[in-house]
Formats: sequence, C-alpha cells, structure tokens
Amino acid sequence: MRIVVCVKYVPDAQSHRRLEGGTLVRGEEDSLNDLDENAIEAALAAKENHGGEVIALTMGPAGAKDAVMRALQMGADRAIQITDDRLAGSDVIGTAQVLAAAITKLGEDAPIDLVLTGSTSLDGMTSMLPGALGATLGWPSLTAAATFAIEDDAVTVSRYLDNFADVLTAPYPLVCSVTDEANQPRTPGFKLMLAAKKKPIEVWDLDALAIDGQPRYGSEAAGTQMLRADKRDERRGEGRIVTDSGTGGVELAQFLREAGFAQGN
Ligand SMILES: Cc1cc2nc3c(=O)[nH]c(=O)nc-3n(C[C@H](O)[C@H](O)[C@H](O)COP(=O)(O)OP(=O)(O)OC[C@H]3O[C@@H](n4cnc5c(N)ncnc54)[C@H](O)[C@@H]3O)c2cc1C
Repeated sequence: MRIVVCVKYVPDAQSHRRLEGGTLVRGEEDSLNDLDENAIEAALAAKENHGGEVIALTMGPAGAKDAVMRALQMGADRAIQITDDRLAGSDVIGTAQVLAAAITKLGEDAPIDLVLTGSTSLDGMTSMLPGALGATLGWPSLTAAATFAIEDDAVTVSRYLDNFADVLTAPYPLVCSVTDEANQPRTPGFKLMLAAKKKPIEVWDLDALAIDGQPRYGSEAAGTQMLRADKRDERRGEGRIVTDSGTGGVELAQFLREAGFAQGN
C-alpha cells in the first residue's frame, strides 16, 4: 500500500501570532500542525499492518522541512517538500491543485492508494483541503474520521456529527482526513530521531509538477481575498447573564442590536 500523508507547517498556536498586510507572518515560530500527527500515525499503522510505503508531503515555505522531518522521525519513509515563491498567497483550491499534481507525479512510479490528512490546520482552519484534494484528483474523500479501518478494497470510517455517528466507506484510491479521536500519535525515540536524518527529503518547485488545467495557485488566482484582519478585542467584561423564562431570544436579539451586530426588529 502506498500512502501519502499531507502535513502542514503552521505558526505555533502558542506563539505570538501577528498579521502583516492582511496575512499571517510565517517562518518565525512555525511547527508541524499538531493535528497532522494523527494522520501520520494512521499512515504508519496502515503500513505496519499492510506493508508498503509512507511518503510525507508538504507545500510551504523553505522552513516547512521541519514539518516533514517530524513525519520522518515518527516513521515515514521519505518526504516531498513543495516550495516556490509563485505559491505565496494560494488559497485552498490552489493548494489542492498543487498537492494533487504532486500526488499524481508520485503515482507515476507506482499507484498511490491512500492520501491521509489532518482534520484541520490550526492556521487556515477551513477543513476544506481534504475535500478539495479529493475533488481535484477525482477520488472519493472521507473527512473527519474518528475511527479508521483499512480493508482489502476499501477504507471504512466513522464520523461523529451532532447526534449522529456516520459509518462511511470508499474504495481505493481515496483521500481521508482523520481527527484527533482516531488514534494516539507515537512519540519517536532517540534512535528514530537519528534515523530520520538519513531519510530522503526531495524539494520540488512548480516546474517539477504538471499542473492540470488553468493554474489556481498564487495570490492572483486566489478566489478568496482578505479584506480586513483586525486584532480581536480581548476584553473580558463581566458579561450579562439572562435567565431564559421564554424571552431569552428577544433579549439576545436586543443585546446584539444594541451592540451594533444586528439590524431590524
Ligand atoms: C487569500 C489567501 C491567501 C493565503 N496566503 C497564504 C500564504 O501566502 N501562505 C500560506 O501558507 N497560506 C496562505 N493561505 C492559507 C492557505 O490557503 C491555506 O492554509 C491552505 O489552502 C489550506 O487550507 P487550510 O489551512 O484551511 O487547511 P485545512 O483544510 O484546514 O487542512 C486540513 C489538512 O490538510 C492538510 N494540509 C493543509 N494545507 C496543507 C499544505 N500546505 N501542505 C500539506 N498539507 C496540507 C493538512 O493535513 C491539514 O491538517 C492563504 C489563504 C487565503 C484565503
């Protein structure tokens, strides 16, 4: 089984994140998106039970090597880092187009069976990349898997949404995003950390990829434009507690209107 695990390099959620020109300043205190460790763990467990290869894939700035290094330390066999100045400002559709081109290229050696991702990135947080990637590749996508089972001809997952527990299945090849409920990521020991240093990391730029159709990457092609990014008001006042005795909805609407968030009656 050939598995690609997509990992993202993100500004550390605990660091002092700031915006410049409407975009997040990157490359200062960045690290692997925490939730991607669950995707790596799922990929490694699949390889242990079914054999094959795990390839970590990231699109990001030069420092994104640290994100794939963590995947290599945990046990991935090799890594691909896509870096190119022309990718700056890509939105989720552009990111999916580039990652799909890389997966297609990897599939030229031998078919890729499964692409695993985390459930969301802790910076962009759209959770749309896995679906967009599946759509671009023309493969099914199973998203937000809380359990994950590899079968001979399919992957079956459960997802917990509101009051429902869905069980979904899809045949190979497919894209699957896993949540932090899916498993407990392993902590690599010293030996694995050392071994990772010898594992291959290939760096590809856009010229290494055959992009299918009209290019969607880069800020020019991004369908989404950042209009404003304001620092959030961190005041935590006393608040107002309303005991709902049938008029709670009206009081809430009134409060929102007074605070300038809503109009009308
Ligand atoms: C106008 C605009 C400009 C932007 N400019 C930039 C920019 O200059 N630089 C930048 O880094 N981001 C930029 N972004 C954010 C970027 O588009 C998103 O981070 C990216 O599209 C993925 O979406 P997400 O982070 O919401 O991923 P989600 O869908 O929340 O992520 C789910 C999973 O997908 C995988 N994944 C997501 N992104 C990657 C990746 N890059 N490589 C490998 N796996 C991945 C991970 O496994 C992750 O857990 C911009 C966004 C917009 C709208």
